[in-house]
Amino acid sequence: MSIHSITDQETALKAMVAKNKWGTFFGVSQQTLNRVWGNLTAPDGNSVVYITMEIGADLDVFHPVQKHLRDLEITDSTNSVFDHYTKLFLHGPQKIPNYGGGLGILAGDTLKSMAEMKIPTVAVSLLYRKGYFSQLVDAQIGQISTATDWQPENTPSLYLLKDPENPDLPLEIEIPFFDDHDRKTSAYARLWLKMEISKNLDFFTPEILLDYAIPSSPDWIRDAAQHLYDSRTAQSKIIQRRLLGAGVIPALQALGITSHILHLNEQHGVVVALHLIVEKLKEKLGDEYQFIATDDDILQAAQSVAKRIVYTIHTPVKAGHDRFDQNLYNQFGHDFCQRILHLLALDEDEGHLFNFTAFAMRVNRATNSVSRLHRGVTHKQFPEFAPKITAITNGVHHATWISDAKADLYSNFKEFEHWQKNPLVFSNAHLLMDHQRFRSYFEQAWQQDNNALISHVNDMLLRHRKMMHETWIDPPNYLSQINDNNVLEPGVFTIGFARRFSTYKRADLIFSNLDTLAKIINNQNKPVNFIFAGKAHPADEPGKRLIQQILDVQEDLYKKTNGLAKLVFIPGYDMLIAKLMVSGSHAWLNSPKRPLEASGTSGMKAAMNGVPNISTMDGWWAEGYHGGQTGWKFGIETDVSESCLSETESTLLYEEDAASLYAILPEVLNTFYDSELRHLYIDRCIKNIELNIPTFNTHRMAAEYVDRYEIKLQPAVAKQVKALQQAYISNDIDL
Ligand SMILES: *Cc1c(COP(=O)(O)O)cnc(C)c1O
Repeated sequence: MSIHSITDQETALKAMVAKNKWGTFFGVSQQTLNRVWGNLTAPDGNSVVYITMEIGADLDVFHPVQKHLRDLEITDSTNSVFDHYTKLFLHGPQKIPNYGGGLGILAGDTLKSMAEMKIPTVAVSLLYRKGYFSQLVDAQIGQISTATDWQPENTPSLYLLKDPENPDLPLEIEIPFFDDHDRKTSAYARLWLKMEISKNLDFFTPEILLDYAIPSSPDWIRDAAQHLYDSRTAQSKIIQRRLLGAGVIPALQALGITSHILHLNEQHGVVVALHLIVEKLKEKLGDEYQFIATDDDILQAAQSVAKRIVYTIHTPVKAGHDRFDQNLYNQFGHDFCQRILHLLALDEDEGHLFNFTAFAMRVNRATNSVSRLHRGVTHKQFPEFAPKITAITNGVHHATWISDAKADLYSNFKEFEHWQKNPLVFSNAHLLMDHQRFRSYFEQAWQQDNNALISHVNDMLLRHRKMMHETWIDPPNYLSQINDNNVLEPGVFTIGFARRFSTYKRADLIFSNLDTLAKIINNQNKPVNFIFAGKAHPADEPGKRLIQQILDVQEDLYKKTNGLAKLVFIPGYDMLIAKLMVSGSHAWLNSPKRPLEASGTSGMKAAMNGVPNISTMDGWWAEGYHGGQTGWKFGIETDVSESCLSETESTLLYEEDAASLYAILPEVLNTFYDSELRHLYIDRCIKNIELNIPTFNTHRMAAEYVDRYEIKLQPAVAKQVKALQQAYISNDIDL
């Protein structure tokens, strides 16, 4: 659709600008802004606050406003305000590096689904001016972390909110900290608004990002607020968690938001519960509450606060759960908060620690794990709370992760009508199983995605090769170091692997016996590309060693297979690289040690594109495997008892699980390459579309969350929610 008349274009632009007392926003109409704000500030409180440390929603993978401008062929305007926004949204920066990995991407995907489904939600998170670290990779040194620079001021879809009383100034809120003598220091935050806007620009989810790195905050607050997951010291970690949790209520109050339900995406923001408990006590006992509250009063207040909180627990891995030394914590929180924490957050094993997971477990109306298998793990880890822990399996925002080529494909078949709005239509894929035009169209789209990935890699290899002569960085890839024309070929069987590099994910598993791997490839006598990416947290030394190991096997693997196998590492894993990889690979490799991967979502992104997984039976794959119809499984299927949760080297089952992977690889290669068998490979792809897209999307997941929230929805919204709830019930089946 294009609008040629200038006046029509100006009218379209005008309908994309909206104002309220906090600022001027681009992308939605005044009516939409009023509607969303009206929902969030209504006295009935029928809306949700989603609290999260990180949000991953880069604009280069999903950007409805930009798409709208492009569709309308609008490039500029004579109105200076419209022109500013048009240029910013078309050409401005597309990355918002306020995420570290899966947790943040899940948050972004969830909030996009909330917008698309019109479920009134507001998110609260932090704005990190130095983001998450950027990754350079040097062949000798391995991962090098560098600062990430970005300017929220120039980033489309982000707005600094104004102070309505003082429109020339930004709104600032005050968040008190207390030292060990209860002397108060105030931190201050400015509020940024980011909007996740629905495809039709008719709804959005606001995200309130608290920016503490401002002149009015003390140095030590500013310092702790800069980097996501700053773990230089235990102090900076405590401060960051308080910046999030203690900021929630002041931020909502400043904006008049009335949401009754609060959803904790992990326990990071659980400090909000302390503030709600104090509020309750104040209500009941007055300003003297600190001196007169009994333990029973506190526990009762906690019980009533719990009715407002829904908690998602994301990992069985110990490092994912915050535990802080009491004395240290005392340097930041009020004595009365210490008293609450003593009653509700004491660590069972180590009494000098506050355990924030234990706290979150106590103060909620519903806890959910992120897959069926993970529910079993969580029940074992927290037997006391098992009755209230249910499963809500994660998902991904399908419109974000389906490549352009696949989106064209899906849009061309009436069986998938309205797929953007309703992912359940993909169950119709069974009607296309034997449809020759669909099958060949699918293969073409896949080839297009593979070409895009391979040319991205080849451009990178060439760039690194040039850089080799210009900088001190040794290119991370062996292929950049040998000759110029040794690049990857499109169409070659490509295995993708991209994850945060932590030990339990075992990125190097497939290379643990190079001779065996080489033999499989040589026997087949067909080329194979391995494309890897991922960051290790800068403080995670074993994780960084894994990256080094991936780099170190490149040359050997290449030589042992006479160049048939090429292994490439792409530095700087982010959402754009993820999208290229999940759509352009031919198989998605997932090798965590069961049952440590609570869910995993990158494999779901591959499934959205019809790409089969080769995976251990961990996390979501225990639900997505469908007896082998959608891909392959390998590895020992251990139970989920405590003894299987160890992450030490000797318990990671490298030998057993690698042998099991090597046992299935010949069949995978054969099915892909043998023209007689190829149709079986494509069957698996189509089964992913049919069986996995309808389930592992965030629309379905959000619908299951809504069941835990028990909020009242508009009838049309409730209807879609219900349909999605009926399509899949994560908690139904026990694994
Ligand atoms: C999807 C995604 C992740 C999470 O992937 P997992 O499979 O859950 O580990 C991490 N980082 C980026 C950039 C992603 O897109």
